Amino acid sequence: MMRKKLLKLYDDLYAEYGELNWWPAETPFEIIIGAILGQATAWRNAAKAIDNLKAADLLNPEGLSKLTQDELETLILPSGYYRAKAKKVRAFVTHLQEHHNNQLDSLFAQELPPLREELLSIYGIGEETADGILLYAAKKPSFVVDTYTYRLMERLGWFSGRFHYGRLRGIFMENLPHDCQLFNQYHALIVRHGARVCQKTPQCERCMLRAECPTGNQSE
Ligand code: SF4
Repeated sequence: MMRKKLLKLYDDLYAEYGELNWWPAETPFEIIIGAILGQATAWRNAAKAIDNLKAADLLNPEGLSKLTQDELETLILPSGYYRAKAKKVRAFVTHLQEHHNNQLDSLFAQELPPLREELLSIYGIGEETADGILLYAAKKPSFVVDTYTYRLMERLGWFSGRFHYGRLRGIFMENLPHDCQLFNQYHALIVRHGARVCQKTPQCERCMLRAECPTGNQSE
């Protein structure tokens, strides 16, 4: 039942927005650093910080591990919360060095559940960041949810109660085939819909989901 509804929602969103290409990065390491720098900020701010690291030829484990906290803070300033984010980046780089000899292949060689646990054990990596790393960098089928997902699911009447990352993610993990391409595209479609139509104040009058959405129906 839920599987059918989720697949139909995917089809409806896909018909509206088409193929969306995530994630804009050249290497898995860049995706990981981008996932940390992108926390609680618009992507364009994280992208500026990434550009600074690239321009200094430091966007690699060896380069970042040579930087002091102050030096890293200066380079990632545009990403916001730069002190905390510098600590998080350093924590990840130190972990990679100490446990995997700077080799992402070694980190990613694990199955999804233990890899997710390991990522979550690193300072500064929460569930959304861990799932972003798993899906986009490690190419493992871990669904990423966020506030856009919550808003849409709640308004469609498929989720009730306060935001709960694990419960929300479980809806997708338990009902969809575990397919990286599907998860990648689905998350991107939800974000696009949340940014353009199902906004904080929903734009139901121009939403293609309105006929099936209890919130959209109420707003008639
Ligand atoms: S009808 Fe309104 S509340 Fe429902 S999904 Fe569309 S924009 Fe969101």
